[in-house]
Amino acid sequence: MNSCVALLRLFGVFIAALVVICAIRTFAVISSSDRKLSPCSKVEGDEFIELTERRWNAFKKTLTFKTISRESAQFDIEEFQGLLKHIIGEHPTVFSSKIVTYQFVANYSLLIHVQGKNRDLLPYMVAAHLDVVPVVESQWSVDPFNATEDAEGTLVYGRGALDDKGSLMAQLSALESFLKRGRIPERSFYLAYGHDEEVMGKVGAVNIARTLKRQSVDKLHFVIDEGMLVLKDMLPGIKQNIISIGVSEKGFLNLNISVEYTGGHSSMPNKESAVSIMARAVHRLHTQQMPALVDQLMEETLLKLAPVAGFPVNAVLSNLWLFRPLITWGLSNHKTLQGMARTTTAPTIFHAGTKSNVIPSSAWAVINHRIHPRDSKEEVLTHVRNTINDMRVTITELAGSYFPSHPISAFDRKTSLQYQVIADTAEQLFEGGITVPSLMVAATDTKHYLDLSDNIYRFNPVLVGPKDLASIHAEDELLSKDNYQRMINFYYHLFINADRTTVRELRHENHEL
Ligand SMILES: [Zn+2]
Repeated sequence: MNSCVALLRLFGVFIAALVVICAIRTFAVISSSDRKLSPCSKVEGDEFIELTERRWNAFKKTLTFKTISRESAQFDIEEFQGLLKHIIGEHPTVFSSKIVTYQFVANYSLLIHVQGKNRDLLPYMVAAHLDVVPVVESQWSVDPFNATEDAEGTLVYGRGALDDKGSLMAQLSALESFLKRGRIPERSFYLAYGHDEEVMGKVGAVNIARTLKRQSVDKLHFVIDEGMLVLKDMLPGIKQNIISIGVSEKGFLNLNISVEYTGGHSSMPNKESAVSIMARAVHRLHTQQMPALVDQLMEETLLKLAPVAGFPVNAVLSNLWLFRPLITWGLSNHKTLQGMARTTTAPTIFHAGTKSNVIPSSAWAVINHRIHPRDSKEEVLTHVRNTINDMRVTITELAGSYFPSHPISAFDRKTSLQYQVIADTAEQLFEGGITVPSLMVAATDTKHYLDLSDNIYRFNPVLVGPKDLASIHAEDELLSKDNYQRMINFYYHLFINADRTTVRELRHENHEL
């Protein structure tokens, strides 16, 4: 009896100690904060660019060019030429400036160079793309290429509004104002606009990278391209906007799996068939995903979110040493967030049979993998083989459909000048926002720029809620005036802040407890 009481007491002390440690850590994490730059002003001329009717119309017009990229079809040359002509016509200061040179790459991509005062500093590159994905017109509530505004005139609908003509025109509009105000940067930079990003950038971005190398530009200070966004009302219990900066990008791999097996008349089925074997293999792959893991990148994201989360989420996020299994379980069961924590497996094409009374002798499927940076192609293949565990299923890699995941760029704000500059600039526009590093789960042109820089960031300074997110690559894609104005000012401040050559001193963050 006595030993029982003693054991209970000991257990009580253990629980109390856990609670105290959790509380101390939670307090330490939530009380840490960085010193911010002063927010972007709201007075035109005072380092602020107001969205005038002219600037808005210039952007809207880009949405009327049908610069569609299709996997299997030629694109419409005249639409691309029209868009390029429009871009040049709308930014007379940029395209006549003495410090600007530009060239067309692979006919329709555009590479602009802005010469800075200090030739010893490494140049950086800001990228976007000119092309858009196709539309299913019947699903749109407006003409996708008519730049239709809503009744209040607060936003515009159009294919490419968010992906990626907003970035394209905001960058050029920012540069136009930058140069008009007589600014000359210390550090040189490039603006790079590929014309086939939506079909892998195999001509545009590839040749932009080659052009830079031919011009002896082997290293860039950093690259910033489209990517993660500023998330609003996306995570329960967090009211602040989350400025999500993609510091890496998942790779991908398409596998073809196939089965040959005795076919025959449907009145005499065998115990198994090509269809049943294939169905089992696909089911196994779909249900037995690769394991999820809270890695260093995810850990940093969670620690940054802890101070703004309410109780008890903040206590959980601040005490990963204790709650890691719980968080891992939560992530692996979340449809959207699981992609951040693991390589995902998705059967996307399934094919067998041509006639209702014939058992087919073959079946095949395509399995799409989005590869997490910690996994290699070989590890994915091993997982697929072991999961299917059936020698009758042939696994082959589809030609040209493998891209490795990207290296993880620096995301320590205290030591990485490049990450700090981008995070600082974003916070000038999104006051009170929390910057977190994250993993880009979709593909961008940056895959072709990996050789050019160790510091590649994927970020669009666009505030989105769950509804806006659903419109990317889907119907009724839109961009609001508020967002567009912020985008212009983000790039304007980036052109100023990127001149920095040393990291800014931040207040000490007490994460070491
Ligand atoms: Zn895009």
